[in-house]
Amino acid sequence: TDATAHLDALTRVIPDFPEPGILFRDLTPVFADAAALASIADALVAPFAGAYDVVAGVEARGFALAAASAARSGHGLLLVRKAGKLPGATLTESYALEYGEAALQVHVDQLPAGTRVLLVDDVLATGGTLAASHRLIERAGWALAGTAVVLELDGLGGRERLAPHEVLALQRA
Ligand code: 5GP
Repeated sequence: TDATAHLDALTRVIPDFPEPGILFRDLTPVFADAAALASIADALVAPFAGAYDVVAGVEARGFALAAASAARSGHGLLLVRKAGKLPGATLTESYALEYGEAALQVHVDQLPAGTRVLLVDDVLATGGTLAASHRLIERAGWALAGTAVVLELDGLGGRERLAPHEVLALQRA
């Protein structure tokens, strides 16, 4: 597809970032290219057309993608933030990263119960980030409309960890 071609052309692979042994996929050249950003923003949400009310992005690269997808498809944006950033009443879920540990939060009363949330992030690695986001959406009383990522890293068990939820990945590596 168009989005896949842009990803093949623009994704950079950086060894030993942010720690030795991590092979980091850098999507910032994709974000910086107008045609690539548009095609990826559209491809992330197109399969879910009519089935979601809002696009959720995970801090921080998920914000950029989710905001682009939400604006281009005429939907609002839900921020899944790192802990300690949201001023209102929050729900918190801790998670393990490929490198490190953290917690995510949402504003509990941001959206009405039953709101259909399409969750977007840049990379699926071990699935810890998206699993924590799924738990937040469920605890808040919203409905998970789908999960979409730009890039799925194979061999880290992310897809299995998120089961029975399916994940749309534009690219695998
Ligand atoms: P997980 O929780 O699935 O192990 O890790 C996914 C999170 O880590 C995503 O939010 C993503 O931003 C980040 N991440 C892990 N590996 C990479 C990578 O190679 N490239 C980028 N851009 N992000 C990564």
